[in-house]
Amino acid sequence: MTSLPFSASLPGGAIDVAVVGAGIAGLFAASRLIDAGATCVVLESRDRIGGRLLSHDSGAGRFDLGASWFWPGERRVAALIDELGVPIHTQHVAGDAMYHTADGAQRLAGNPIDVPAGRFSDGAFSLADRLGARLGDAVRLQTPVHEIDYQDDDDYQDHVVHISHAHGSLMARHVILALPPSLAVHHITFRPALPEQLHALAIATPVWMGNIAKVVLVYREAFWRHGGLAGAAISHLGPLREIHDMSGPGGVPAALFGFAPLSPGRGAPTKDEVIAQLVNIFGRAAAAPIEVIIKDWRADSHTAPPGTGADTSMSTYGHPWYQKPAGDGRLHWASTETAPTSPGHIEGAIASAERAVEAITTAGSAPRLTARPPQGDQ
Ligand SMILES: Cc1cc2nc3c(=O)[nH]c(=O)nc-3n(C[C@H](O)[C@H](O)[C@H](O)COP(=O)(O)OP(=O)(O)OC[C@H]3O[C@@H](n4cnc5c(N)ncnc54)[C@H](O)[C@@H]3O)c2cc1C
Repeated sequence: MTSLPFSASLPGGAIDVAVVGAGIAGLFAASRLIDAGATCVVLESRDRIGGRLLSHDSGAGRFDLGASWFWPGERRVAALIDELGVPIHTQHVAGDAMYHTADGAQRLAGNPIDVPAGRFSDGAFSLADRLGARLGDAVRLQTPVHEIDYQDDDDYQDHVVHISHAHGSLMARHVILALPPSLAVHHITFRPALPEQLHALAIATPVWMGNIAKVVLVYREAFWRHGGLAGAAISHLGPLREIHDMSGPGGVPAALFGFAPLSPGRGAPTKDEVIAQLVNIFGRAAAAPIEVIIKDWRADSHTAPPGTGADTSMSTYGHPWYQKPAGDGRLHWASTETAPTSPGHIEGAIASAERAVEAITTAGSAPRLTARPPQGDQ
């Protein structure tokens, strides 16, 4: 890869690649491109990196409010963990699970809810944190991208894309859209407009977990384990539908977490509601958490576009149109939603980044295109 002619014959001030979004996909792509000799900048709208990798530091420890697991067979995540030296442990599964319906809470024999997935001992954010540390000032925080102009410009020998962001603009030969497609087309004006069908596909691609509130309850000890419970539950009453043990290795720090699906008529639950639900399921010992943390992803405009509904369909994930660049070969889709492999997962986000990097590194300094593909041909 080092023999690629990155940065050769670029117009003044232009870089090889601008990455939009410093989630794990954007960070991974930037890291690989810089390794390959490209000049690269990551533009991130938030005041932090990581996107849907978010770990909350409380007095008791660090708890994931976004992704927390990886699964056997996810080779890209496993390789990145090795590469970055990120500490991991296995999800606690031992004990009986609970099943909660209008008839009450019923104890199951064993735990059919959890699998022995991997967990990040310092929080899933540690993946992003360690990748971000490699990138240094290539990452620009609080720099939302507003406009991407990929019109051919005769002033330049080599066709470049103009990217406008909160603090100005820059030019790049390629752009990686490392954010959910529906968010990209909501926040960014493309000039010329993306082909209608591609725009419609992006709008119709739901943000994975964009309509979820994740709730973490921190306790002094993992009291459920004393009674032989796994800390896992399925509830048909809500507000939490799925509950899992979120404790650290050896049960320290002790925590439970749950997912609350949100619908147009249903907002994030209150602390009192989730405590009452856990008391119904796990008994009085659940009544006194030392901390309750609620992360409403639907209310976070950096993840969920306005009007995010209850749609969780994955039918558009990894769509073939996301596998090839748009905008005369200059705009590359990334983000977990665009991955045909493990879409929704961290694994999918990394796979999407690999695909974008591959497309750019094999394009090299391709000669300027003289004809645009027909509008529908995306
Ligand atoms: C509650 C929850 C639980 C999850 N659990 C798991 C799990 O256990 N295991 C798992 O594998 N996956 C899980 N996931 C999914 C996982 O977090 C994602 O697959 C992964 O983090 C997505 O990474 P990404 O880089 O594709 O997108 P993102 O992380 O969403 O990154 C996109 C980035 O783009 C930025 N951005 C947005 N708009 C702009 C703009 N206009 N200009 C510049 N930047 C912009 C955003 O701020 C963000 O940083 C979970 C997600 C959530 C929310």
